[in-house]
Amino acid sequence: MTTIDHFIDHTAVSDAARTSPVFNPATGEIIAEVGLASDATINQAVTSARVAAATWSTSSLSSRTQILFAFRHLLATHSDELAALITREHGKTIADARGEIARGLENVEYACGLADHLKGEFSPQVSDGVDVHSFRSAVGVVAAITPFNFPAMVPLWMIANAVATGNCVVLKPSERDPSTAVRLAELWAQAGLPAGVLNVVHGDASAVNALLVHPGIDAVSFVGSTPVAQHIYREGTLAGKRVQALGGAKNHMLVLPDADLDLAADAAVSAGYGAAGERCMAISVVVAVDAIADELVSKIAERIDRLTVGNGADATSDFGPLITEAHRDRVAGYVTRAEAAGATVVRSGEREISRPGFYYGAALLDGVSPEMECYRDEIFGPVLCVVRVATYDEGVALINANPFGNGVALFTRDGNAARHFSRHVTVGMIGVNVSIPVPVASYSFGGWKDSLFGHAHMYGPEGITFFTRNKVVTSRWPAPTTSQLNLGFPTTR
Ligand code: NAD
Repeated sequence: MTTIDHFIDHTAVSDAARTSPVFNPATGEIIAEVGLASDATINQAVTSARVAAATWSTSSLSSRTQILFAFRHLLATHSDELAALITREHGKTIADARGEIARGLENVEYACGLADHLKGEFSPQVSDGVDVHSFRSAVGVVAAITPFNFPAMVPLWMIANAVATGNCVVLKPSERDPSTAVRLAELWAQAGLPAGVLNVVHGDASAVNALLVHPGIDAVSFVGSTPVAQHIYREGTLAGKRVQALGGAKNHMLVLPDADLDLAADAAVSAGYGAAGERCMAISVVVAVDAIADELVSKIAERIDRLTVGNGADATSDFGPLITEAHRDRVAGYVTRAEAAGATVVRSGEREISRPGFYYGAALLDGVSPEMECYRDEIFGPVLCVVRVATYDEGVALINANPFGNGVALFTRDGNAARHFSRHVTVGMIGVNVSIPVPVASYSFGGWKDSLFGHAHMYGPEGITFFTRNKVVTSRWPAPTTSQLNLGFPTTR
């Protein structure tokens, strides 16, 4: 059996005492065992990062830029290899895995502009003979803790900006699909990143909890489910760390009567069932205004009947299996209980369960109401709920009452409605006739309400701010003979 090791100081480090199986979800087979980090291994990784930080944080911007460009090239040229690795452990299609690498690549390209992002400010002569300038320095050592659903993109959201700004990183990827993180770290090493600047440790809650209280960790960047994000934020800040913790989602798509219904149905199916619904920006609730609800539901159902569910490595599959058998059963349970609660099961995913692997087909639930469990919880599977509303205002009120606020979409031809919607929904990322509005790398990614704990969004300008601390220097170069004695509080007047 293959074992997946940690990667510390550019070297494979084993931990055999506790291991966890890694599955190929498309077949249900165990393909590897991953060693779960002991406290000693966590300590080794953090110590190595602290040692590296002394040199890395003072390295020149041009030398860091060269490494980032070299890594960008390696990432692009290894995209097929990485996509195959992602599909094997995660189950998503190869095309989808390539897509996540492309979005991660965007973040590396943004970080390549680090010399520009780290420019400070200068104000000459704020008072007589006094100048002020500011500059940003690295925070130190960052723990990056990532979910299973984007094993390349989410680590790259964090690593690219963190190392560009002079930090060292201890990455703890999901133990369910851990190989991509190690391969990425090997490519960073090949690009010239010095040993210790990026270490990878595998593990479960125990490894995360050790990182959260480790005195050698300065900041924690987390992406995962809401209960864990809350825990990370609470414990990390209590231990005095800077924390950004992105959580789960329940993303709505409001379809107004004037929308192009074919475009809206295509978008709902693509965003609802792509990657088997295991995306934090997946659409999971279609909010249909009564006037067009019947027609929209039948257009979505027609499209479901044309989908092929299968092994992600097969180019004909539209989406693949879920991550584990337990998760597949959890998703199936929501659909069964929704029917019992009064929803109409227009399509069920049950038909895909009988074959080997962790498959569940596309499910469509109509007549869902806000108190139902299938509406309240993040299901994280190929299940679309349809909630019918009488008016646009009722749709917006429903969205704003939901505790999650990650992404939302509006489908309409009415510019004024779109403008009103953008200004009034309490959600961080908004799409107008765009169903998965993941911001480009020069903006930042983050939700509102229970989708984000802490104030800093991920990547882009807020990523640079999160990974750096600002310093302001006030300086005066007086003529040697001038008396400086003044016990009053300094002012600029
Ligand atoms: P998860 O919360 O179970 O795990 C995330 C990370 O936390 C993993 O590295 C895991 O090992 C660790 N972890 C799990 N349980 C823990 C515990 N009790 N204590 C400490 N650490 C723990 O999430 P997941 O199932 O891997 O990923 C799916 C979730 O991530 C979904 O809720 C999805 O919406 C969310 N997600 C959010 C975003 C976003 O940007 N907001 C992006 C991707 C995924």
